[in-house]
Amino acid sequence: MNTTCPNCQSQDTQAVRMVIAAGTSTGLGHGVAMATGGAALAEFATTSKTELARKLDPGPAPSIGLLEFLGWAFIPLGLFIGFVMGASGGAGWGLAGLGLFLAVIGRSVTSGKKADWTQRSAEADRSWVCLRCGKVWEPQL
Ligand SMILES: [Zn+2]
Repeated sequence: MNTTCPNCQSQDTQAVRMVIAAGTSTGLGHGVAMATGGAALAEFATTSKTELARKLDPGPAPSIGLLEFLGWAFIPLGLFIGFVMGASGGAGWGLAGLGLFLAVIGRSVTSGKKADWTQRSAEADRSWVCLRCGKVWEPQL
């Protein structure tokens, strides 16, 4: 595989995944941050990346969105209220309907984000970066 930079012909190039792994600091920093809690750990891990690693890293896979989460939570809650209140349970059925609506909308938002991330991640797996000029490209096998 030819990994010479197509932009400046430099041999000083590296696989993107290597840059991300090398640019993400571990060890003491994590230990110190962990003492102050999970949120601080995540933030610390992010800020301890080098500028280049941060630019190239697609990050963790997106999790379920808030909208979809609320949707799935509203459905059983609404059904429960509807069943418990019987004839006067209109609000419950309405809530379940709203939940279904949110879940459907939220699902499409979530899957859009996932597709976007999958593509970015696959590109990061294939790409190399020039450490001299910063060019990112996909070497032909
Ligand atoms: Zn270059």
